[in-house]
Amino acid sequence: MSAGVMLRRLIFPPRCASCGTLLGGADQTAPLALCRACTVKWDSHKNALCHCCGYPVADCTRPVPMIARHGVDTLLKLTEYDPQKPQSVASRIIFKLKDKESAELQAFLARELAPKIEEQLVRLGQTRENSVLVWAPRSKKSLRERGFDQSKGLCTALAHELGIGKPVQMVRRTGGGVQKMLGQEQRAKNAYAAFEAVPKHCADLKGKCVILVDDVVTTGSTLSAVAAKIKPYKPGHIVGVCIAVDVPPERR
Ligand SMILES: [Zn+2]
Ligand SMILES: [Zn+2]
Repeated sequence: MSAGVMLRRLIFPPRCASCGTLLGGADQTAPLALCRACTVKWDSHKNALCHCCGYPVADCTRPVPMIARHGVDTLLKLTEYDPQKPQSVASRIIFKLKDKESAELQAFLARELAPKIEEQLVRLGQTRENSVLVWAPRSKKSLRERGFDQSKGLCTALAHELGIGKPVQMVRRTGGGVQKMLGQEQRAKNAYAAFEAVPKHCADLKGKCVILVDDVVTTGSTLSAVAAKIKPYKPGHIVGVCIAVDVPPERR
């Protein structure tokens, strides 16, 4: 652990991302994110049976329909997320990830996702060296309000955990507004207009395994738009990765 991290932990002792309990001392080497009780609950979220396939949700690789239509046939995830249950550990983790920049939480989630990504690379006959992480920035309004970008943080933590080079960033053209109030078709249109692939950043994607990172996947409009903009650069594979899939109301 670096001296900087040690100092930060002394000044801001890590707290559980879910319940806020103080965690261990500054001498702990593992990135701390959850207390023991919340870890148990988090594990039960990951093992809950998936609404789409009946397997534990953290083992489900099925994409949501919209991203499947855009050629992303795999979506790796850790949990399902029901915004109607804000007190659940999964919801609290998602809120914390979006609302407050926490290197501990980002590192924890990256450690949870990394083995799934590695398994998927093996299935595809791909290597880390041939893989590129891509993230889609949040809107300028949201950046102003929160002061950080959770997808960038997560993507950077994943790059570090997997030993993959610098992630590729999409460019956000428009504000995009609040997506969650919109219907599926409008969300898709907005997302398509909002994101652009920058040629100088994407020139090397040909034949690569592109890993698209998002925090929460609802309809899949963001990942679909990013996949559509990346496709002209001829990646070999596109894999979607997220922390949680938002369960549609009719399936809750
Ligand atoms: Zn806790
Ligand atoms: Zn499933």
